[in-house]
Amino acid sequence: MGDQVPIEEGLFTWPSDSPKLVGSECQDCGAIVFPAQSGCPRCTSDNTETKELGTRGKLWTWTIQGFPPKSPPYQGDVDAFEPFGVGYVEIHNEVKVETRLTVADKEVLEIGMEMELTFIPLFTDDEGNEVITFAFAPLAS
Ligand SMILES: [Zn+2]
Repeated sequence: MGDQVPIEEGLFTWPSDSPKLVGSECQDCGAIVFPAQSGCPRCTSDNTETKELGTRGKLWTWTIQGFPPKSPPYQGDVDAFEPFGVGYVEIHNEVKVETRLTVADKEVLEIGMEMELTFIPLFTDDEGNEVITFAFAPLAS
């Protein structure tokens, strides 16, 4: 029986009852970036600290990935591929995050809609672990 493991260490808090994305905040100019960086891309300061990001934001732009991305980095089963949504979500007052979307439906996705962080299984690795990544889902209204 495998575990649930994060796709990449340090990207989000895991395991956790309420996992959060982990970015970094520059202590000099206040710039927030995701994923976390040791240097600030705005003012080049190295005085940054990791910061757990908010879990809600607005859909800034989106598209539907209709064919398997090149491997690597795509590690899923190409034969089992199903189109998925990708986009940028602007976390309130923080930072735009490139993310998978749980929805791949043109009728549902709308720029500016409220989105909420969630976590989805991507694939099962060679050791039987379920590999988890983050995604954003339209906020249930
Ligand atoms: Zn800075």
